[in-house]
Amino acid sequence: MAKDRDAIVVGAGVIGSAVAYFLQEEGLSVCLIDRGAVAAGTTSASAGHTSVQGRVPGPALDLALANVRLLGEPKRALPDDFEYVQSGGLILPFADHGLEAPPEVEGELQKKRYLKQTGAGGFQGRFYVGSTSEFRGFDRSSSWEGVSQLCQYAIDTVPALARARLVRGWAGLRPRSRDGTFIIGEAPGCPGFWLATGHDSIGILYSAMTGRLLSQWIRTGERPALLAMFDPARPSLAAAAP
Ligand SMILES: Cc1cc2nc3c(=O)[nH]c(=O)nc-3n(C[C@H](O)[C@H](O)[C@H](O)COP(=O)(O)OP(=O)(O)OC[C@H]3O[C@@H](n4cnc5c(N)ncnc54)[C@H](O)[C@@H]3O)c2cc1C
Repeated sequence: MAKDRDAIVVGAGVIGSAVAYFLQEEGLSVCLIDRGAVAAGTTSASAGHTSVQGRVPGPALDLALANVRLLGEPKRALPDDFEYVQSGGLILPFADHGLEAPPEVEGELQKKRYLKQTGAGGFQGRFYVGSTSEFRGFDRSSSWEGVSQLCQYAIDTVPALARARLVRGWAGLRPRSRDGTFIIGEAPGCPGFWLATGHDSIGILYSAMTGRLLSQWIRTGERPALLAMFDPARPSLAAAAP
């Protein structure tokens, strides 16, 4: 079946799926394959945020913002419910991190905490708390240390969670390149073999734009300027090799 297609995409995580989706939009016939199920890798372990707070102005932020806009395009009709919500986020300052909230903000936060803790029936529903990050090779197990850190963080933030029940924990492998930057482009010395990987802890934030720009590049043969910094042949990648 794959022989009849213009392109074969290996890996049905958020990146491979985005590439396959946009290649089809570019008019190519595509076969998307995975050794497991769709999104069974790191994508299903992620928090799914597309948060840009705290990012440094520059091309990387431009790309992230373009991704957020693209994901939110109402005309992008997908057959299934996409479940993408642009809801905003809140960064909490903690005094023991050397950060102080302005008094009016702190007052507002305390009020919300108090209201939540004293609300009838206490907390309801499910809370997701994450995440820790460590270099542990390909080990996908959750450590007690990591879980307890996260529980403590949750209780410090919302004290009433001390009474919550822990339902489950999980871990995922963040695909990180040797120099810490994505790898997007044609593999050196291997014409026709394209790479889109190394999205580390921000793959959702860059998914759709990775798919769109790489697909445009594959079809037109012209590299989009925003992808220049992710060149698979860049010296920093080779220099970091063991
Ligand atoms: C705890 C956690 C929280 C995160 N939260 C966020 C977040 O909030 N926002 C954000 O932007 N990012 C987040 N990330 C990062 C994000 O999940 C990743 O950057 C992204 O999912 C990477 O997508 P991918 O498609 O490259 O990899 P994957 O999702 O791992 O997909 C790769 C696929 O390739 C398949 N595969 C591998 N080898 C083969 C083979 N030989 N043959 C066939 N198929 C193969 C695998 O089965 C897998 O399905 C988080 C990550 C973790 C671990």
